[in-house]
Amino acid sequence: GAKQEGRNTYRFFTSQMQAQSMRALELENALRRALERDQLSLHYQPQVDATTSKVVGVEALLRWQHPELGMVSPAEFIPVAESSGLILPIGQWVLETAAQQLKVWRSKGLLHITMAVNLSARQFHQPQLPDLVRDVLRQADLPPQCFELELTESAAMSDVPAAEQTLAQLQKLGVRLSIDDFGTGYASLTQLKRLPSYKLKIDQSFVRDLDKGETDKAMVNAIVRMAQAMGLRITAEGVETRDQLDFLQTLGCDEAQGYYFSRPKPAAEIESFLFQRTV
Ligand code: C2E
Ligand code: MG
Ligand code: MG
Ligand code: MG
Repeated sequence: GAKQEGRNTYRFFTSQMQAQSMRALELENALRRALERDQLSLHYQPQVDATTSKVVGVEALLRWQHPELGMVSPAEFIPVAESSGLILPIGQWVLETAAQQLKVWRSKGLLHITMAVNLSARQFHQPQLPDLVRDVLRQADLPPQCFELELTESAAMSDVPAAEQTLAQLQKLGVRLSIDDFGTGYASLTQLKRLPSYKLKIDQSFVRDLDKGETDKAMVNAIVRMAQAMGLRITAEGVETRDQLDFLQTLGCDEAQGYYFSRPKPAAEIESFLFQRTV
């Protein structure tokens, strides 16, 4: 009967939820030791000029190689890091490591590339963030304009007054702000207008479906026009094919990033690509 069914449903959900929270707990405990055990690393993915295909920057993407769990995806461990607070020490390590890597590349003559680092909501709402970014830049002797912070709409919007203060301080420092995964969050155009952003990154879901029909083409077109009208640079994420690139170029998209150019790779493996396509 209904009662029986209800109970089974309940059981089903609890065991599934239990398995999920066990996994989360397991990840959290392992992640606690990941930094000191040297299991975290950064991969870098080039960002290229959509017209010339020259490298304009790289995005740092976190990787976690665990001896038993294998390679854990950021999509799985970033939320765990975020909810446990571990994202704060890990995020600081990411900022420092990315800045030091850019310093190394600049010393080798790659003076025109920017470094983009992802920030989660929790990092962004830390009052010390602007001081941390300033110190990291100083230690690596970097001009602030070559540093970009990528933030999703929802991370920027979850506490607007606090966000505005942090953003104003970051802007004063001279670092650039990119809105990541644009089109998938809930920011209103009014909110968007108030953010001192420099760049919009069109989410890869729009790019992926470009060849599936007119709707996605029209949406990407509208996003590009809006960004242009607002004086923002625009990057397309997840570019995998020549056709996608051609279309984005025609629209006037400034930059592109995706497997068509290169997958994210360790610093030593991406270097030759950066040197070949430098301005
Ligand atoms: P994101 O910042 O939007 O990064 C883009 C994601 O798309 C990356 O996944 C990248 O590997 C992937 N990608 C790039 N080009 C292509 C393509 O052509 N096709 C497809 N299918 N995918 C492509 P990844 O490295 O797994 O990272 C996932 C997300 O995890 C990132 O999304 C970002 O939100 C978060 N993340 C990564 N590193 C960090 C970090 O250091 N700190 C924080 N807070 N979040 C991070
Ligand atoms: Mg990003
Ligand atoms: Mg993105
Ligand atoms: Mg994303």
